[in-house]
Amino acid sequence: MATLLSAEQETNPWLAAEVRFDEAADRLNLDDGMCKVLRSPTKEIIVHIPVQLDDGRIEVFTGYRVQHSIARGPGKGGIRFGPDVTLDEVRALASWMTWKCAVVNIPFGGAKGGVICDPHLLSDGELERITRRYTAEIIEFLGPERDVPAPDVNTNERVMAWIMDTYSMHHRHTVTAVVTGKPVEMGGSLGRREATGRGCMFVTREALAKLGMSLKGARVAVQGFGNVGSVASDLMAKEGAIIVAVSDKSGAVHNPRGLDIPDMLKWVKEHRQLAGYPKAEPISKEALLTVECDVLVPAATENVITRKNAPQIKAKIICEGANGPTTAAADEILEKKGIFVIPDILANAGGVTVSYFEWVQDRGGYFWDEDTVNRRLESIMVRAFNEVAATTEKYKVNTRIASYIVAVDRVAAMHRLRGMYA
Ligand code: NAD
Repeated sequence: MATLLSAEQETNPWLAAEVRFDEAADRLNLDDGMCKVLRSPTKEIIVHIPVQLDDGRIEVFTGYRVQHSIARGPGKGGIRFGPDVTLDEVRALASWMTWKCAVVNIPFGGAKGGVICDPHLLSDGELERITRRYTAEIIEFLGPERDVPAPDVNTNERVMAWIMDTYSMHHRHTVTAVVTGKPVEMGGSLGRREATGRGCMFVTREALAKLGMSLKGARVAVQGFGNVGSVASDLMAKEGAIIVAVSDKSGAVHNPRGLDIPDMLKWVKEHRQLAGYPKAEPISKEALLTVECDVLVPAATENVITRKNAPQIKAKIICEGANGPTTAAADEILEKKGIFVIPDILANAGGVTVSYFEWVQDRGGYFWDEDTVNRRLESIMVRAFNEVAATTEKYKVNTRIASYIVAVDRVAAMHRLRGMYA
C-alpha cells in the first residue's frame, strides 16, 4: 500500500497514519466494525474566534480541537499555532496521540488542537486574546477528566498558563491539571522540558544494546537543535556518544571526531542559530541525514526521510524524535536495508509520559523531585521498548508496525471491555 501512494500523498499526515493503522489492524485481525470505530475521530470541533487586534481592527481566526479517542482516558495532545494548520493535519496528529499514549500504556486518549494564525505577525497581547477566546469557545470539551492540552509548534508554557487561567476563571477555582507543559511555578513538572530528549536517549540506548553496542562510542547525527534535538544530543553525549553532526533551520555542522555539545548550546543561546558555529565543518542540511553514523535522530519536522533519500541513509538505528519524520514509502526502504527504526509514537513518547506525571502530580497536589520523574520515565520507556521488541518478534513485523500493533490492540481491548453504549 505504502508504495502505491503518490509523491504528494506520501507526505499527507492522515494517509501516513492510516497506512500504518491498516497494517496493524490487519495483523491483529480486527473486525471491520472495530476498524471503523478506531479510525474515526470521536469529536471534531471547529471554532471561529473573533479577536480585536492592537490597531483596533477585528479579525476572525479559525481553530480546531480534534478528540480522536477518549476510550482509555481523557484526550491528550498539544495545540499548535500556524498559518498552514489544517483539519486533516490536526486529525492525524490526534490519532498519533491515541497510539502514542497507548504504546507507553498511560491512561489517556488522543487529541490535538490548532489555530490558523501566524504567531510571528502577532503581538503578545493578540496571542493572549486568541488563546483565551479559543479556550473559552471549546471550554466544555476541556478538563482534567475530559481533554488535557499541551504545547506544540509555536505554543509554549506561557500559552498553557493563559489556558489554565481562562479555564480556572470559568470554573471559579484553580484547575492546574487542565493543561500540561505549564511553568513549574504553577504546577508544571520538573523534568518535563528535557523529557522527550531524555526518552529518546533511553530507547536509543536499548536499541543499541540489541545490536550489541552501547551509547559509549556510538556515532550520532541529530537533525534539529531545538527542545528535543538539543536535549537528546546533550544527554547522549553525557553517556559517551560521539555527536558527529547536528543541524537546525539555519544550517548543519559536522565533525567526525565529535562536536562539543555544551559549547554549541552556549553558541545557539547567544546567536539563536547554529549557522556560523566556528568549531566544526559546515555541511548542507540534506547531507546531515546521510552522514556516516550509527544513530540518526530526526528531531525537527515531518516528512524528512522519504523514498528519495532513504536509500542513502547509513545509520544502523533511526530514533524518531520528531513526529512523522519518515514517510510510509521510506519505511519499506529502511526495512529492506535492515535499519532499526524506533518509531515516533515510541521514541518521542517521553514528553507525553512526563505530561502524564504532571497531571498525576497536579491532581494529587504532591510534587516529585526530578530524580523520581526521570527514574519513572526510564522505567516506562524501557518497558514500552521491550514490549514493542517482543511484538516485533511475535508478528515478524518492523518496529513501527509492532508499535502500532501494541497500541491498537490496547485501545481495541478497552472498547471490547466497555462494550457499545447505545
Ligand atoms: P523546536 O521548535 O524546539 O525545535 C525544532 C528544531 O528543528 C529547531 O532547531 C529548528 O531550527 C529545527 N528545524 C526546523 N526545520 C529544520 C530543517 N528543515 N532542517 C534541520 N532543522 C530544522 O521543536 P521541538 O519541541 O524540539 O520539536 C521537534 C519535533 O519533535 C516536532 O516534530 C515535535 O512535534 C516533536 N515532538 C516534540 C515534543 C516535545 O516535548 N517538545 C514531544 C514529542 C514530539
